Amino acid sequence: MGIIREMPAIVVKDIVLMPHMSVNFSLLTKEAALACEKAMKGDQLVFVAFQKKEQSFVSKENLYEIGMVTKIKQINKLPDKNVQLILESNKRAKIVEVLDDKATYVLVESVEETGEDIEKHEKEAMLRTIRELFIEYSLYNSNVAKPMIKTVNHTNSIGEVTDFITGTVILPYEVKLSLLNTLDVIKRYNRLLEILRDEIEVSKIKADLKKKTNIKVSKAQREFFLREQMGAIKKELGEDPLSEDAEFRKELEKLEASKEVKEKIEKEISRLSSLNAGGSEAQVERGYIETLLELPWDKMSEDTHDIKKAREILDKDHYGLEKVKERILEFLAVRALNSKGESPIICLVGPPGTGKTSIAKSIARALNKKYVRICLGGVKDEAEIRGHRRTYVGAMPGNIVAGLKQAGVKNPLMLLDEIDKASDEHRGDTSSALLEVLDSEQNSHFRDHYVGIPVDLSEVLFIATANSASDIPRPLYDRMEVIEVTSYTANEKFHIAKEYLLKKQFEKNGLKKKNLSINDGAIKKIIDAYTKEAGVRELERKISEICRKAAMRILENGDEKITVTAANLKDFLGKEKYRNDTKNKRDEAGIVRGLAWTPVGGTTLSIEVNVMPGKGELELTGQMGDVMKESALAGISYLRSIASKYKIDSSFFAENDIHIHIPEGAVPKDGPSAGITMATAVLSAITNVPISRNVAMTGEITLRGRVLAVGGLKEKILAAKTAGIIMVLVPLENKADIEEISEEIKDGLEIVYVSSMKDVLEKVYEN
Ligand code: ADP
Repeated sequence: MGIIREMPAIVVKDIVLMPHMSVNFSLLTKEAALACEKAMKGDQLVFVAFQKKEQSFVSKENLYEIGMVTKIKQINKLPDKNVQLILESNKRAKIVEVLDDKATYVLVESVEETGEDIEKHEKEAMLRTIRELFIEYSLYNSNVAKPMIKTVNHTNSIGEVTDFITGTVILPYEVKLSLLNTLDVIKRYNRLLEILRDEIEVSKIKADLKKKTNIKVSKAQREFFLREQMGAIKKELGEDPLSEDAEFRKELEKLEASKEVKEKIEKEISRLSSLNAGGSEAQVERGYIETLLELPWDKMSEDTHDIKKAREILDKDHYGLEKVKERILEFLAVRALNSKGESPIICLVGPPGTGKTSIAKSIARALNKKYVRICLGGVKDEAEIRGHRRTYVGAMPGNIVAGLKQAGVKNPLMLLDEIDKASDEHRGDTSSALLEVLDSEQNSHFRDHYVGIPVDLSEVLFIATANSASDIPRPLYDRMEVIEVTSYTANEKFHIAKEYLLKKQFEKNGLKKKNLSINDGAIKKIIDAYTKEAGVRELERKISEICRKAAMRILENGDEKITVTAANLKDFLGKEKYRNDTKNKRDEAGIVRGLAWTPVGGTTLSIEVNVMPGKGELELTGQMGDVMKESALAGISYLRSIASKYKIDSSFFAENDIHIHIPEGAVPKDGPSAGITMATAVLSAITNVPISRNVAMTGEITLRGRVLAVGGLKEKILAAKTAGIIMVLVPLENKADIEEISEEIKDGLEIVYVSSMKDVLEKVYEN
C-alpha cells in the first residue's frame, strides 16, 4: 500500500499533465479557486484530477483513477474571480475517495510504477528506438523544439522518456490519459511506440498529399510563395528584388532622425536578418522595426504664430467663453514670443460637455498643429502610458508614443483627456509616468518600455482636461495652469444651440434649412424640459435626434418641410423628462433651501427638520454623505452654544430628538456647503419660526459659527435663479467668485455676504 493522504483537488477536462511538467492555465470555477486557496494555506500541493470527457458531473466514477500531484508555483487572481495558475507536476497518485460533491477534497494514494528493472542492453535498445522515432516525428511537427529532442536524448529511464514524449506530442485527451493511467512502463512504452509510428505515418501521407494537390497551404506559406515568384519575375526583367532588410534600409534612409536612432534601427535590421524568418522572434522584431520607422523622430510641422487668426478661429468655433479664450490667447502669445522657454501646461477644468475638448481642437487649428487625443479615463496601469517590454508577446508602445506615431510629427498638440480619471489603483505608478511626460526637464528623453530608445516629447504641446481639479494628483496639478470652464446658463445654451449646434447637426444629417426648422421656443423647451446638464452634450444629442427623425420623415412620407415647435416637440423627443426645480409653495418652520453643486450643474435642495420629544438624539436621513453629517453636528454644537439667546431652554437638547432629512435627488450630493442651511433649519424648527421661501443659502459652518467659503458658486446661483429664489446668502470669503459671475446671471437676485452664523440668523429672522 502506498501512502494515503487528503488533498485539495481541482478537476480538469481538457488538459493532461504528465509528471515533471510546468503548465500555465486559467481556472474558471469557484471550486477550483477555493481548492487553490486551501493548498496555499498548506504545503502548496494540489491534486489534479481528470474528468472523463463525456461525463458532466463530478464523482469518483467519472474521474480517471490516476491523477497528478502538483505544486502551485504561482497563483494570480484575475479581476473576474478566476485564477491563473502556474503548476509544476510532480508524480502520479491514485484517487481513493472523493470527499465532497465537487471534488475539491480527495483522498489519494501514492502509486509505484513497475517494469523499469529490465536488462541493460534491452533498455538501451528501447531507448534508442524511441529517440529515433521522436526525431522523425519532430521533422513533421513544428511544435517539437530542439531542446525537447535534447531532453529525450539525455533521459535514461523508460518511464520518464515515455512520459516526457507523451507530454510533448499532440494527442487526443483520452489517449494521453490512457498512457498516464498505465503504470507498467513497458506496456506504456509499447503503446507509445505504436502511437508514434501511426502519427509519423499519417504525417508522411499528409505531406505527400500537400505536395500533390498543392492545396490547403497556409496564408503565410502562400505569401512566401508569391514573394518568391515576384523575385523570380523581377530577376527576369533585370531588376534586383529587394529583400526584407533592404526594404527596411530604404525606409531608414528616408527617415528624419538622429544618428544614434538610425544606428540603433540599423542594428535591429541586422538582427532581423539573422533570425529565422518564419519564427515568432522575427515577427516581434519586424513589428518593432516598423514602429521605430514610423515614429516622427525629427519630423516637424510648421506652426503659425498669428494671434489675430487664432482669435478668429476660437471665436468662430465657440460661443461665449470670453475668459477662457482670453487666457488661451495670452498663453499662445507668450509661447510665440518665447518658443523655447518653460511654458506651463494648460489644464481645462469643468463639467462634461462644456467644450473643453473642442477648445483644444480649435487651438490646434489656430496654430496649424496636428491634433491627437489620448484618453486617460480609466487608465490604471503605468504600462498603458509607458508601453510593455518587448519580450512579452503582443507588446505595444504606450499611448503617448502611439499618439505621436498617429500624429506623424514630433510637435503635435496632444490632448490628455480626463487626466483626473487616471488612477494608480491597479499597479504601477500612472501619475509618476504622466509626470515624466509633462515635465520639461525629463520629457526630452521620455522612455517607453517598448521603444527602448529615449523619445523626445519636448516639442509636443500638451493640453489636459479634467472634470474636477481636486481629483488631479497633486504633483501633476502643480505642473499645470488650470483654466476653469464653468457650466452654461440657459441663455448661453440657447445661443450655442441656435448658432452652433443646429448648423453642425444639420450638416451631419444632410439636412438643409429649407427641410427643417427648429424654432426658438422648441430650443428653449429642450433645454428646460429634456436636459439637465452643465454643458451642452445632451442638448446636442437631442437636436441630433430631431434631425434624424426629420430626415426619416422627409424620406418616408415625402414631407417637404418640417417645423419643430415647443408644442410638437414631444412627437420627436417623447415625454418631457425634467420638471423645473421651484421654490416651496409657502414659508414653513424647519424647512430651508440649500444650494448644491453636482457634476451636472447646480441644484437647490430643501432641507427639512423635525423636532420631537425624546432623548437628545440626532437622526440624519436622505441623501447624506459623511461630510454632510459632520457639518450637521457642527451646526448643532454651535446652536447649543447660543441657545439662551433664542430663549431655548438649557434642557431642550437633552429632552428632544432632532431629525434632519435631505430629500432624495437624482444626483448624490456631499460636502460641507449645506452647513449653514442645516443649522438654520434646525433653529427654525426649534423656535417654530418659518423662514422665507424666497431665501436660499450655501456656506460651511465651523463649531464656533464662522462661515467658510464653498465652491461651485456660479452653478449654485444659476440654480437658485431658475428656482425663483430672490435672496441668496453666500460666504463673504466667496465675494471674489461672485464678482466674476456675469450680471446676466445675478440680475434680479439679492446676494448677501455672511461671515458668521450670527449674520445668517439675523438676516433670515428679519425677513
Ligand atoms: P467636453 O470636452 O468639455 O466634455 P466637448 O468639447 O466634447 O465637451 O463639447 C461637447 C459639444 O458641445 C461639442 O460638439 C462642442 O463643439 C459643443 N460646444 C461646447 N461648448 C460650446 C460653445 N461654447 N460653443 C459652441 N459649441 C460648444
